[in-house]
Amino acid sequence: MTNAPYGSTIPWAEPSWYTGRPSPYYKESHRKLRDFVRKWTEEHFADKTAEWEEQGKVPDDIYQLCAQAGLLVPIAAGKSIPPEWSNYPIIAGIKEEEWDGFHDFVLWDELVRGGGIASIFIGLVVGAPPLRQFAGKALQDKILPEILSGRKKICLAITEPSCGSDVRNLTTTAEKTPDCKHYIVNGEKKWITNGMFSDYFMTAVRTGGPGAEGISMLLIPRLPGLKTRPISTGAGKLSATTYVTFEDVKVPASYLIGAEGAGFRQTMVNFNHERLWVVFQALRGCRISMQDAMAWALKREAFGQRLIDQPVVRYKFGNMARQVEALQAWTEQVVYELEHLSQADGARLLGGVTALLKVEGGIVGKYVAYECVKIMGGLGLTKTGQGARVEAFFRSTPGLIVPGGSEDVLIDLGVREALKLSRQAEKAMAKL
Ligand SMILES: Cc1cc2nc3c(=O)[nH]c(=O)nc-3n(C[C@H](O)[C@H](O)[C@H](O)COP(=O)(O)OP(=O)(O)OC[C@H]3O[C@@H](n4cnc5c(N)ncnc54)[C@H](O)[C@@H]3O)c2cc1C
Repeated sequence: MTNAPYGSTIPWAEPSWYTGRPSPYYKESHRKLRDFVRKWTEEHFADKTAEWEEQGKVPDDIYQLCAQAGLLVPIAAGKSIPPEWSNYPIIAGIKEEEWDGFHDFVLWDELVRGGGIASIFIGLVVGAPPLRQFAGKALQDKILPEILSGRKKICLAITEPSCGSDVRNLTTTAEKTPDCKHYIVNGEKKWITNGMFSDYFMTAVRTGGPGAEGISMLLIPRLPGLKTRPISTGAGKLSATTYVTFEDVKVPASYLIGAEGAGFRQTMVNFNHERLWVVFQALRGCRISMQDAMAWALKREAFGQRLIDQPVVRYKFGNMARQVEALQAWTEQVVYELEHLSQADGARLLGGVTALLKVEGGIVGKYVAYECVKIMGGLGLTKTGQGARVEAFFRSTPGLIVPGGSEDVLIDLGVREALKLSRQAEKAMAKL
């Protein structure tokens, strides 16, 4: 059975299920969410995000607008919304029990299409999950209402100037006071997205000895001794990439997330979703770029014919399309698997898979951005006009490759995880 086509009719500008082709994954509520978010982002953000990016700031009331529209709860929740969050609005009126990993995918797909606005929620995507999954009830009851209502903002602070990929060796310390009521935090964190405007820093700190076992997760409010300064990166000003310093910051011991020493595992568990979410961004970036490049190729003439009439240009589109559609299919498969596995099994079975999927997102993103820049010609390097979205995507592709786990590190992780699972399967089969 086919559904009504939706969105752009340009080939590959939309996922296949938008064109009316059948899919086992998307139901009526996904279509409802898609239609709502597209209309809503076009109404509120179209033509504005470039100006905000230039100013380096989104107007203060926009975050509240997003909260009232029901964006914050699904963004903080990811693939499932807990029943206790049902008293907050949820975008498009989707019921909390209906929300699944495909709603998460659709939401991000359409938000990314809506422009740079998505950048202001990165801290929430990566910072809120440890609070929801591992914090005690008293801390959740205190902090979550502030975060979910948009009164306060959160980010995730793991990376340090001296260690990024090598999380096990982080050096920011949190020492208990003699009365055990506080931690005193000292150290530095680097490249922290949304840090400039965050009120809470979900921070990996060293509470014990060397290695992974000495790492804990501590929620650090913007207290005296915590300082932030901007870092200018290619990720754009709305990402508010930040250098954070902690000088004798006195944090209540009750702000520890879960148990001391659990911080490394808590960080790793959350990477599945973070990496998947990078792929969501890559996919829509590719589709936007192909849409604009195709629109241009259909009208631009060179050497007496339209670009699209040149076989070499059609060859480029074919090569982009096969990679984008394969990435889409693999992503949907992983979303489906995560949907049907427990959190623990998802982390155990899919840690290496999501690592490799993220790598693929970066590689396909880079390829498509580069090809589209060539098709657009000079427009592909121009920050305004018909090439603006291609130029912006091309500039953003390193952001698909390094943050959330660097390409080389993740390829290696993917292979090591696959070998580990293979050994486990071998042992299990030997016992039969
Ligand atoms: C725009 C931006 C936003 C970010 N946002 C956040 C954030 O919100 N919170 C946060 O905590 N961090 C954030 N980061 C940090 C990001 O996660 C790290 O930059 C990333 O993990 C890589 O760490 P590194 O920069 O220290 O590189 P390094 O770890 O020094 O690695 C450098 C390079 O060496 C190679 N390499 C290193 N180790 C290996 C290995 N074992 N095998 C193979 N190759 C290897 C890789 O090519 C790697 O890219 C952000 C970074 C950027 C640029």
